[in-house]
Parts: sequence; C-alpha cells; structure tokens
Amino acid sequence: MIVVMTPHSTKEQLEHVVKLVEEMGLSTHIIHGTNRTVIAAVGDKRMVDKTAIEYSPGVEKIVPILSPYKVASKEVKQEKTVVKLQPHGSGIGGKTVQVIAGPCSVEDRSQLLEIAHQIKDAGAVGLRGGAFKPRSSPYSFQGLAEKGLEYLADAREQTGLAVVTEVVTVNHVERVAQYADVLQIGARNMQNFMLLRAVGEQPKPVLLKRGMCATMEEFLLAAEYIINAGNPNVILCERGIRTYEEYCRNTLTLSIIPAIQRVSHLPIIVDPTHGTGHAYMIEPMSLAAVAAGADGLIIEVHPDPEHALSDPGQQLTPSLFQQLMHKLVRVAQAVDRKV
Ligand code: PEP
Ligand code: MN
Repeated sequence: MIVVMTPHSTKEQLEHVVKLVEEMGLSTHIIHGTNRTVIAAVGDKRMVDKTAIEYSPGVEKIVPILSPYKVASKEVKQEKTVVKLQPHGSGIGGKTVQVIAGPCSVEDRSQLLEIAHQIKDAGAVGLRGGAFKPRSSPYSFQGLAEKGLEYLADAREQTGLAVVTEVVTVNHVERVAQYADVLQIGARNMQNFMLLRAVGEQPKPVLLKRGMCATMEEFLLAAEYIINAGNPNVILCERGIRTYEEYCRNTLTLSIIPAIQRVSHLPIIVDPTHGTGHAYMIEPMSLAAVAAGADGLIIEVHPDPEHALSDPGQQLTPSLFQQLMHKLVRVAQAVDRKV
C-alpha cells in the first residue's frame, strides 16, 4: 500500500507513520515527490490493520498498490529514476542517452586499455567487460577473474569511465563491488533471488539484464527484489529473448521499452549485441532502440571481433562503434534526447 502524507505534514509525523508501518512487519520506502511525500509499505499485508495508519496525524490517505511489483512501479513513484553510474558521474534515465561499451570479456590489460580510450573518445560513459563469465560450456573461456577486475579498475583510472561488470554469485558480490562502479546481473541469473538480494544490500548501482525466458512482469519482480533489499539504483536492460527464430541469436523485443515506461519509473537500456548475436545488426537496432525511447545502450566492442575469446563475430570494431555514435546523435536529437 501507499501512505500518502498531506502536503504540510511534518518530519515527526512521517517518522511516526514509518515506525507504525514497520511495527506491522512491513518494510518502508520513502519517496519525496514534488508536492508530497509518500511511504510505500511493502510485505505481507494479510495481518495488517490499516486503521492506525489511516488516522495518524499527517496522513491524507492510503492507496492500495495494484500491480504485482510495488516499489518498481509508477503507482509508487511517478518521476523517472535517474541512476548515477558513479557518485559524480553521468546519470541513466535523464535526457541524455548514455552508452556503455567494451569487450564481451576482459582478455588482456593492454587490449582493454586501448579499447577503453577508443570508446571514451567516441562518447561512451561506461566500460563493460566480463571478468567472471557465465558460459554455456564449461570448456569455454571463463574470464580472467580477479585479474580482469584489476584491469578494469586500471582502465577507469586512465579514462574516468564507469566500470560495469558481471557478478555471478553471492560469494563474489563484495569482491566485485570493490572494483566495479555498476554490478551487472546477467540474463542467466535474473531469477537468482539470493543474488538479487545480495546486490540489493550493497550500495553500487545494478544493471539487471532480462532473463532470456522472462516475461516483463518477472523482469520487474526481479528488480523489485533488489529495491526491496535497500538498493533503489536499478537499471533494466533488455537483451533479447529466446524464440523459435533462427536468423538471430535472440529476438530483441524493443516494444518492452514503452511497455516498461508505462508501468515503471526505472530506466531501461538495450543490449543489441546479445539481443541479435550479429555484428551487422548492432547499428540498426541501436538506432531503433534510441528512437523507441531507450535510456541507453550497452554494446560489445572488440579490436578483433573474429578472434574474441567470447562472443566472436558479435562485437563491433572500435571504428564501427565510432561511426554508430555519430549516427546516434542525430536519432537522439530527432526524439528530443542527447547523446
Ligand atoms: C554479458 O553481457 O556479458 C552477458 C553474458 O550477457 P547476457 O547475460 O545478457 O547473456
Ligand atoms: Mn558477450
């Protein structure tokens, strides 16, 4: 439920209501809007007697939240959430479309540093790269682990780019958060609820990728786990879903962008690399994503895509990435955004 406070309610009245709600075993999320403050009270409400809250001083009304996801929904928060990639850095969810780029996996230090400089010069704000890779085959390259994290941190040191990298297990959350600016939850882990809680209990922003078989509702419920655990800084990422189609690795459902924006305040970005599985599709789908209202893109870039240790043939070369960034500027302008 949402407890709507009157426009002139005091801080003490707010604190009193929060205490009442928490005593009932519900968790509270306070949202300060332009006109009034609301408290989203979430949890199992079967046993809760709302009367005490309803008649508390400073309370205007109580409104039930109808959607299955609560704190991720627009019913609780109308204004869009802008997630900062670094404390003083760029925000995702505002007027500017932000681009994160980099190799599928961190392969070696000098290669990563070179890519970092190239994507930064082309206008990216974040550097992606997997150090711990969730691979379908146990015989595939699994990532450089800790060394990969160190190289990513070196690249940030040199370029100022925000580091976005995947965390694959609860045991790694603390370690990855020491190096990363943004923790990525991969498609295969979108419903790893323990992991969602663990990244929700730490303060770094989370990039949550849509599971390849997840519905939009399941996607938003996964985000709900993270926010509920205490971390409101969630960026959704559409990366395509499994269908019967064979011309592409996944089917990139761009229609989820307006659908999400209709029901949620969370920013949504698009991954056209995994979303299509073909380098030649990355540019058109990136342009389409921005035209459709995406708040950003995450794109794989590799100096020698054919010989990449993971996802070969699906990544852009730095020069093709630069070309794409030029085109993006014009599309963004056409839909009243910036790059
Ligand atoms: C990735 O971005 O490195 C990745 C593995 O993607 P996904 O989880 O979307 O498959
Ligand atoms: Mn990849």
